[in-house]
Amino acid sequence: MTFNHFIDGQWQPADSQQSFVTINPATEQPIQSVAAGNSVDIDKAVKAARKAFDHGPWPRLSGKQRGAYLRKIADLINQRLDELARLEVTDNGKPFPEAKWDIEDTAGCFEFYAALAEQMDEQDSETIDLGEPAFTSKAIKEPVGVAGAIIPWNFPMLMAAWKVAPALAAGCTMVLKPSEVTPLTAIALAEIVEQAELPAGVLNIVTGTGPEAGQPLAEHPDVDKMAFTGSVPTGSRIMSMAANQVKNISLELGGKSPLIIFADTDIEQAVEWIMFGIFWNQGQVCSATSRVLVEESLYPQLLERLTEEAKKITIGEGNESGVLLGPLVNEAQYQKVMAAIERGQGEGAKLVCGGGRPEHLHQGYYVEPTIFTEVPEDSWIWQEEIFGPVVCVKSFTSEEQAVQLANDSRFGLAGAVMSNDLQRCDRVACALRAGIIWINCSQPTFVQAPWGGYKQSGIGRELGHWGLNNYLETKQITSYDPQQRW
Ligand code: NAD
Repeated sequence: MTFNHFIDGQWQPADSQQSFVTINPATEQPIQSVAAGNSVDIDKAVKAARKAFDHGPWPRLSGKQRGAYLRKIADLINQRLDELARLEVTDNGKPFPEAKWDIEDTAGCFEFYAALAEQMDEQDSETIDLGEPAFTSKAIKEPVGVAGAIIPWNFPMLMAAWKVAPALAAGCTMVLKPSEVTPLTAIALAEIVEQAELPAGVLNIVTGTGPEAGQPLAEHPDVDKMAFTGSVPTGSRIMSMAANQVKNISLELGGKSPLIIFADTDIEQAVEWIMFGIFWNQGQVCSATSRVLVEESLYPQLLERLTEEAKKITIGEGNESGVLLGPLVNEAQYQKVMAAIERGQGEGAKLVCGGGRPEHLHQGYYVEPTIFTEVPEDSWIWQEEIFGPVVCVKSFTSEEQAVQLANDSRFGLAGAVMSNDLQRCDRVACALRAGIIWINCSQPTFVQAPWGGYKQSGIGRELGHWGLNNYLETKQITSYDPQQRW
């Protein structure tokens, strides 16, 4: 059986009758056949979303009514928590406790935007003082229209929620294209939307590859807004496609996020946050702590403790209890990370631990936790995103040098600083050129706080009320009173 697209409230086969198969990265075995969408399927989905936006009830419902649907979706996700987490483990490879955390956050994201939708009724206009008695003016918020969303494979259901929940809360309708590498929980989301009885066409899900299904979505003239999360090269392509139609876009792209550790930091705390920052989700995190800068006097002890802990990580199939590191998502990603490790060695960096496949695992796309030191500043592995369990550690001698090294990057998604001196932490937080800064921690993510990058890490912000604003237009309404004469 092939899983079909969800278009206009119905399950529809691919126009081409073609399908593709998703692979379990731990076993390298096929899991499920899924419809391979193309421009015809995308066009049907966009037409359904257009009809639902232009003529359907969705944008005309009150915020409270839309919020009630979003709460229903959150409840249905919570009812299937363990099953959805197991599906994510099978499709993506991540350890079960992390998958469960993702699904809980997915439900939490729908709840959060349900609450914001409910508040929209009270805040639907803002009065503007024009300083001219003859004129009164107000600004109102309206949904952008039909939104297209393209998402990656690293947090499959959560990345869907980060786009679907605010778009629906705002009153937009949407066509979502999940990554072809991990489409299964997006299909489960379609089942949930069907069960929640959302009006037809409000959320449409088309599965398929980037060039076959993603590109026609980004190029479709009836899509008013594109929201994209993925790599810089694809983001740049989406931006060019949107530019042709001056389409509203938001981009969440890659990173090479630094963590600066000053000598007065508790060494165990530092090791714990580095481990979480770079090995969580096998390092396949856009904001992964992939560059660690340590003050010279702490450097030798910290490196020793970090190496000890990295070597202890239990690697294996995500459903096995105690496993902290699963396989990478697919063979292509495995080859990419292995090539990066080889390249690092070729560039003269010193491999301190890891760098290969764990000996006891004979199948699955596993890579050991890997630490590099003595990494040249202009090397590829110091500058480019590896998107795997690979961290580069470097020492620094002054705050100024640490900030300079941290900022020397084309990316600017996240950064972190650890020190007992909170004034220094604040100073460094302000000096770092990135959209997300953590103090005395690295990587915790909260739905309430803005998420997005400076420089080539993206455009716009997701999450919090900033995320809702991504899907809203602002309209000025100004009226003239002839009695008052201007
Ligand atoms: P990718 O760019 O290869 O793919 C992302 C999505 O784009 C997929 O759905 C893919 O099918 C689609 N796509 C590919 N080519 C396309 C095209 N020509 N037209 C339209 N769509 C196309 O990225 P990936 O490998 O899936 O994900 C990893 C990347 O995502 C990393 O660079 C990572 O940093 C980034 N990421 C960023 C964030 C963030 O919030 N900033 C979050 C997660 C991942």
